Amino acid sequence: MSDTSKSNLQDFFAIKDGEMQSMERKEIKVNENLSFLLTRLDNRYYATSNTCTHYGAKLSESPMTSEGRVICKWHGACFDLKTGDIEDAPALDRLRTFDVSVRDGGVYVKISQEELENPRLLPKCVKHNPESKETVVILGGGASGSGAAQRLREEGFDGRIRIVSRENYYPIDRIKITKQLGIDNVNSILLRPKEFWDNLDIEFLLNTDVVNVDPKAKTVTLAQGQVWSFDHLILATGGWPRKFGWEGENLKNIFTIRTVDDNQKVSKGAFTKTTQRKPNLVVVGSSFIGMELVAAANEKANTTVIGQDRVPLANVLGPVVGDAMKRRHESKGVKFVLDAKVTGFKHKDSDTSAVGSVAVEGRDSVPADIVILAVGVAPQTSYLEKSGLPLAKDKSLLVDRYFKVQGSDSIYATGDIATFTNRLTGKQMRIEHWAHAENTGRTVATNIVKKKSVEFNFVPFFWTVLFGATLRYCGFAKSFDRVIVQGETSDIEKMSFVAYYTKNNNVLAISSYMKDPIVSHCAELLRLGKMPTASEIDSGVNPLEIPLIEI
Ligand SMILES: Cc1cc2nc3c(=O)[nH]c(=O)nc-3n(C[C@H](O)[C@H](O)[C@H](O)COP(=O)(O)OP(=O)(O)OC[C@H]3O[C@@H](n4cnc5c(N)ncnc54)[C@H](O)[C@@H]3O)c2cc1C
Repeated sequence: MSDTSKSNLQDFFAIKDGEMQSMERKEIKVNENLSFLLTRLDNRYYATSNTCTHYGAKLSESPMTSEGRVICKWHGACFDLKTGDIEDAPALDRLRTFDVSVRDGGVYVKISQEELENPRLLPKCVKHNPESKETVVILGGGASGSGAAQRLREEGFDGRIRIVSRENYYPIDRIKITKQLGIDNVNSILLRPKEFWDNLDIEFLLNTDVVNVDPKAKTVTLAQGQVWSFDHLILATGGWPRKFGWEGENLKNIFTIRTVDDNQKVSKGAFTKTTQRKPNLVVVGSSFIGMELVAAANEKANTTVIGQDRVPLANVLGPVVGDAMKRRHESKGVKFVLDAKVTGFKHKDSDTSAVGSVAVEGRDSVPADIVILAVGVAPQTSYLEKSGLPLAKDKSLLVDRYFKVQGSDSIYATGDIATFTNRLTGKQMRIEHWAHAENTGRTVATNIVKKKSVEFNFVPFFWTVLFGATLRYCGFAKSFDRVIVQGETSDIEKMSFVAYYTKNNNVLAISSYMKDPIVSHCAELLRLGKMPTASEIDSGVNPLEIPLIEI
């Protein structure tokens, strides 16, 4: 039965039967403001809400497979259009579904205004059953930990779920930390209000560090000395910004950026005028985090990026795309000091405790009132030093294809701290993306409830927002021998392109700018093993014309 059963329903005439072919979708307008999505698959019609429950993109404009799996054109969230269920992150809520009937040559859909106005539907979850003695402990309340907790309840886990988190707030939409300066109120970026977690009987202990894990005793020890027992443990403590021990690194107004607290400190610095001029904000590191941060701060501060590469983002996006992003930043007033090696930080003449400039080898110092170190993150696993769990060189956890920690029968690791073997490339990798973190958390939850039933099978997908425009990327190309760029990269005003990252004639990854839904479509082609080769792309094959037929 659909979700409309108890509402004030209206039998709405949508289309004439036969007006749509199989595998076709249509946005059906109910009035100027409200619409739903009608989909025809194997001669059956399905009606759902038409907006992605993540950030609201139209699903009628997003790619769909022959099985009715729709992939949001913005951030890659996937839903089953037959049931409304979430298939892949970053969606947290299901789509609404509406009953459809075919009669007298017409297709009718039972709708109500109230439901059309509220297209998100909370997932179907069980609650804690006090009789159940099983306990899952989750270390970390970020994308991955919270995704796992919700999924456990969706999958029917009615035991105890306990989450411990270093931060003093419920799970947040962390990606907003660099996209939106001046987050005064953490509630504005919570993934869910506290009541949501309370309703699912998911227990949080905030503002608390875990300090040890004992796999044999199946316990974790917290900073205040509490010892928690677990039947299953999910390690989801994410990354923590790196520092290099540069001279002067601890001067006032030098920050890293990962938490709401960091955002507030950086905002305070960026928004405070020094005498009559805008403050000088310098980001060390030309990574996505650094590029996003200067874009967010640019209106309020004079911004400079210092990077060690010749072209920002080139190691991931290639030189042409990296240069396009750099020129776009420059057109907004951002300055770059590239191919540069930072050697330390000097204090102001007027205040020896506060940063005044960044020293760069062989170059003039860069004046700075505020500095943000965006030089990568390290897996936050120091509490595992005595645990005996297998850590990789970078201190991440080595996991199998179910994201279970190697050699353990009840401990999983997810998100930024897990090193796994990529199914497509056979190579070991660690991914620091939101959707990956949430998807790994969800996968592990399913494997806890359904005993190792799901192998991790997601194509990496991420996005970055630079001066209000989004660049998307799917796949994984740690190295590539050629980048095929199609579209406009020279003219900043008309910039719109797709880039294919290729190795040995295989397309490993795709990025795009103002070309939706190409990245979502290609993510699905990669998943289905149907991505065209580099030579096919060269000869004019358009991936968007390859249907997403599942076998
Ligand atoms: C500013 C910023 C912007 C980003 N933007 C994007 C983007 O646009 N697109 C994208 O795809 N990805 C983006 N990312 C990456 C994405 O947010 C991360 O990959 C994702 O949050 C990782 O999820 P996680 O659950 O592994 O770790 P986290 O979300 O970092 O969660 C880790 C949790 O563990 C807790 N913790 C850590 N150590 C301990 C300890 N010892 N004891 C107890 N708790 C602990 C932390 O407090 C936190 O609650 C961004 C990241 C940052 C920092």
